Amino acid sequence: MPNSALEQFIENQPEKKHAYTPITVVPGDGIGPEIVASVLSVMVAAGASITSEMTEMGEKVYLSGNTSGIPEETWASLRHTRVMLKAPITTPQGGGYKSLNVTMRKTLGLYANVRPCRAYAPYIKTRHPKMDVVIIRENEEDLYAGIEHQETPEVVQCLKLITRPGCERIVRYAFEYARQQGRKRITCMTKDNIMKLTDGLFHRVFDEIGAEYPDIEQQHQIVDFGMANFVDKPEQYDVVLLPNLYGDILSDIAAQMTGSVGLGGSVNIGDGGAIFEAIHGSAPDIAGKGIANPSGLLLAAVELLHHIGQSEAAERMHNAWLRTLEDGIHTGDMKSEASKKIVGTAEFTSAIIDRLGQKPQNLSSHSAASAKMNRSPLQLPTITRPSTKPLKELVGVDVFVEWLNSPDALASTLLAAAGEKWKLVMISNRGVKVWPNGHDETFCTDHWRCRFQPSNGGVITHDDINRLMQAITIAKIDFIKTEHLCNFNGKAGYSLSQGQ
Ligand code: NAD
Repeated sequence: MPNSALEQFIENQPEKKHAYTPITVVPGDGIGPEIVASVLSVMVAAGASITSEMTEMGEKVYLSGNTSGIPEETWASLRHTRVMLKAPITTPQGGGYKSLNVTMRKTLGLYANVRPCRAYAPYIKTRHPKMDVVIIRENEEDLYAGIEHQETPEVVQCLKLITRPGCERIVRYAFEYARQQGRKRITCMTKDNIMKLTDGLFHRVFDEIGAEYPDIEQQHQIVDFGMANFVDKPEQYDVVLLPNLYGDILSDIAAQMTGSVGLGGSVNIGDGGAIFEAIHGSAPDIAGKGIANPSGLLLAAVELLHHIGQSEAAERMHNAWLRTLEDGIHTGDMKSEASKKIVGTAEFTSAIIDRLGQKPQNLSSHSAASAKMNRSPLQLPTITRPSTKPLKELVGVDVFVEWLNSPDALASTLLAAAGEKWKLVMISNRGVKVWPNGHDETFCTDHWRCRFQPSNGGVITHDDINRLMQAITIAKIDFIKTEHLCNFNGKAGYSLSQGQ
């Protein structure tokens, strides 16, 4: 469908009236305008009462010098509508451009990414015909906080941040979502056998909040086993809940497993609004050819209509799209033995519109699955902090230093500098204890963690740490950073080193 289809749509769209819900629309780059025109036409034909506020975002904006790719007018529209239908955008080559998706997620607090991944066999070829899974990914925290440093010539680090309020929000969202959508089971995946504090917190909050939802089956799997099992037997899963990085990976794997990434829709949702998009990119290789498949964005639009309370239009649209698949009218990327006619974007759009009001005959009908459910936006309770803070005691400090000599030489220099008040508990390199009683075989970089605790085993002050750091500076040891060792209500809030 040429770009002019979008222009025509804009010209013909209804005047703004109360009954119409305004939505912010980003036509995006590449095939974006073509699939947006298609999806908006189907939405309106299906009876959606919407007016579209067309906004800019993406390549053109980046290239105009705005490194975030999002102009102020787009923010203003989104603040007003709180709902965005977003086509894919092209990220220009070369550095310096911020990820537009990360900026929007963080600015608006869109803490949940929801990706339904469903197979449409036999109409779309897949090895997993029974797959019908929703991946819920925490969207703001974890290694995506973007806090990275080069600490020494040899070592860089990325901070993994997991917060209790962040875990509480996403876990509660997942349980509420499962309840609302009639889903039976949630599988939480973490690596808390290794990351006991960070992933451990995510898992603990899953168990704590899960106790309030006895109607939903719950299980936890270590993420490596969990993902391996998932790709083998996806039909064993219903809703999968993951922290940011694992969720990023599994949601792409799951979309691929359904048979076509081109069919995937995705929702970023939180207190500040919701963004609905296809998961594929702007496909510059086929832009302007009129052959793009609008299905991913169409399925995202179905979710958008549910979100704004227009479930009837959502169901009509989804059922007509399913029926089009069943009738074998497919775009080129969907081609299989089930295809009867390969069509371009415009003809595919017309085929869906022609089938509005019909239901699929074999694929499960949208209404059968969701008619009983209340699909209004989830209202989650505000996160409240406990009225009493836990007792926090400072019991030591990890001093990170750059050093090129042996661990024994580092230990004797530190012991001489620190004095009797301090006990040098251990030195580790890349998390492995190398002093005392290290192993000669352990490979060491130039980045060392030196753990100090008071000799008397008691509590220390910030001044004590300042004095220790002064002594280390005088001894000409290049310290990089410190991490305080604290007990919270008597429980250690830090990891022990391997071998400690
Ligand atoms: P892509 O998803 O755009 O394309 C990969 C392949 O799939 C191409 O062959 C393309 O023709 C095909 N394809 C994708 N969507 C299709 C559709 N709807 N119908 C038919 N065929 C389709 O991935 P890419 O080429 O790696 O990325 C292109 C650009 O998109 C890059 O600038 C990238 O940064 C951007 N991107 C944007 C988003 C987003 O805005 N959410 C997501 C991913 C990639």
